[in-house]
Amino acid sequence: MASKKLPQKGLEHSELIKQMEDLQNNDLNWREGRNSSLVYYIGEEKTKVISDAYTLYASTNGLSPSSFLSLKKFESEVVSMAINMLNGDENVVGNMTSGGTESILMALKTARDYARDKKPHIKEPEIIIPNTVHPAFEKSAHYLCLKPVRVKVKGDFRADVEAMKNAITENTILMVGSSPAYPQGVIDPITELGKVAKENDLLLHVDACLGGFMLPFIEKLGYDIPPFDFRVDGVTSISADIHKYGYGPRGSSVVLYKNNELRKYQYFCFTEWPGGLYGSPTMTGSRPGGAIAAAWAIMNHLGEEGYLNLADIVMKTTKKFIDGINAIPELKVLGSPDMCVFSYTSESISIFNVAEKMLKRGWGVDRQHYPDSLHMMVTPAHEKAVDKYLSDLKEAVEEVKANPTQSEGMAAMYGAVAHMPDKSMITSFITNFLDSLTKAE
Ligand SMILES: *Cc1c(COP(=O)(O)O)cnc(C)c1O
Repeated sequence: MASKKLPQKGLEHSELIKQMEDLQNNDLNWREGRNSSLVYYIGEEKTKVISDAYTLYASTNGLSPSSFLSLKKFESEVVSMAINMLNGDENVVGNMTSGGTESILMALKTARDYARDKKPHIKEPEIIIPNTVHPAFEKSAHYLCLKPVRVKVKGDFRADVEAMKNAITENTILMVGSSPAYPQGVIDPITELGKVAKENDLLLHVDACLGGFMLPFIEKLGYDIPPFDFRVDGVTSISADIHKYGYGPRGSSVVLYKNNELRKYQYFCFTEWPGGLYGSPTMTGSRPGGAIAAAWAIMNHLGEEGYLNLADIVMKTTKKFIDGINAIPELKVLGSPDMCVFSYTSESISIFNVAEKMLKRGWGVDRQHYPDSLHMMVTPAHEKAVDKYLSDLKEAVEEVKANPTQSEGMAAMYGAVAHMPDKSMITSFITNFLDSLTKAE
């Protein structure tokens, strides 16, 4: 039997908040920039704008825009601001979703249903993805019964356009490029992909979940960024997360389409329900008004000036990280990261052993493989953390050098994955881990 029961008598508000504040002490310390992903913290004052707006709208439901004209205005304006940031013309349309994964799921669902209508001869639709795209593409393909065709990226970790072109078959419906891709933070050659997509009458989705709310500003700051958005001929949809570098509340993202002719394949309508005529624009049914309102609030609060300031801090901090890491002889940053997301590796020591030492020093670490490396997403909270991170990293490397064969914790696990031809054991390990997450203690 499950161990936790609903309390007989409800707890007082103040008691609950106290309990929750205490429990937060066991969490990753994101307020001090100890995380390498997951939270994009911009300080207590600005975060209060988000939480106040969220509180005001926590009970509202974006499913019915005619009942909440204020939410309708917020969503329209958030989408409109995003379209302008990503250089969409007057035909570009879009919606807010609960996150990058839902935005990507919607873009692929739209592509599938568009192809069913326009290319009915295709029975087993395929999408061509560089192997660095976010797992949300594999997940969506799995849900939607699309065949993902994975193509290895080139030595610089960018999509191999020629190989993607060669992967096109009569069943291909869409290609994908990332701006930038998560693992090494590099932007795929979107202009070249746009050309191939157009020549072959294919849709092209650009995943700007990470870059959508960062690249427009660093471009304005003078960084050299190749065209990555609707300026590129051939781009038909873009996903961009407000809850990453848009600094919005968790649960906010946008998906944008070249025109309404395409977007209409995103919708779901049902006329035969005894509960009435039903229409829903995205995957979720009820939609959190709090996330929509708080996204609108923070975008209006920061404004272009605020985003530029934060982008400047983040880019300068990133340079500090990268220069500091490259200055440690055993370590090397992979590729040429285009913004503030990067990874680093080692050719002489186990990078996963370094990760264990960093964990012990109170740093969140993100391990990745092919090649083995540690991943970092720099946020404004890291400005104050970067020096300590680098000095701890130096110590961690020295410790691993002193005891090189020791393989601890997850290091052993990752070491094993690459050598296993059959990944089913790893899949069941992950499955058991997911099971364990919802066991009450
Ligand atoms: C985070 C991310 C996603 C998925 O977004 P979620 O909000 O976690 O669902 C998709 N693409 C890229 C490049 C990402 O970094």
